[in-house]
Parts: sequence; C-alpha cells; structure tokens
Amino acid sequence: MPKPFCKKCLLADIDIDGLYKQVSDLIAVMPDDVKVSSEVYNHRLETCKQCDRLENGICAECGCFVELRAASKRNYCPSVYKYW
Ligand code: SF4
Repeated sequence: MPKPFCKKCLLADIDIDGLYKQVSDLIAVMPDDVKVSSEVYNHRLETCKQCDRLENGICAECGCFVELRAASKRNYCPSVYKYW
C-alpha cells in the first residue's frame, strides 16, 4: 500500500509507521534548557503548517522532521525567509 502524501501535514497528523511516537519520545528526553517553551514550539509548528515546503511532516528545505527541529532552541527555519 502506498504511503500517504500530505502537503502541510505534521507527523502528528499522519503518523507514518509510528514515526510521530519516535519523534515525540526524542523530544521528551531533550533537556529542558535545550527545548523551547510550548508557546514557541506551537508557534513554530503553526508556521510550518502554512508553509509550502512542509511535506509529510518533513521540511523540504533541510529534510528534518519539523516537530523535532522546532523543539530545539538552537534551531531555526532553514528557509532563506527564516520563518522562525
Ligand atoms: S521552510 Fe521553515 S517554515 Fe517551512 S516547513 Fe521548513 S522549517 Fe517549517
């Protein structure tokens, strides 16, 4: 069966092969001083959901799972427009 394809979907929306659980588990063990606040995190993901470069939870600019990339303070949007 072909994998679903969803433009502007997060992994949380489609959960391909349980990847969302794996990503969530990785975020859960990140130290608090490395993670952004939930407000910043949600804002970043809402921005990604409006972006044409989001495909199946992956940013087409960098190949990252956006839910994982957005969780870290040191990360930023890789677009030339720096959406976040
Ligand atoms: S280019 Fe930036 S806003 Fe767009 S999906 Fe990637 S990280 Fe998100």
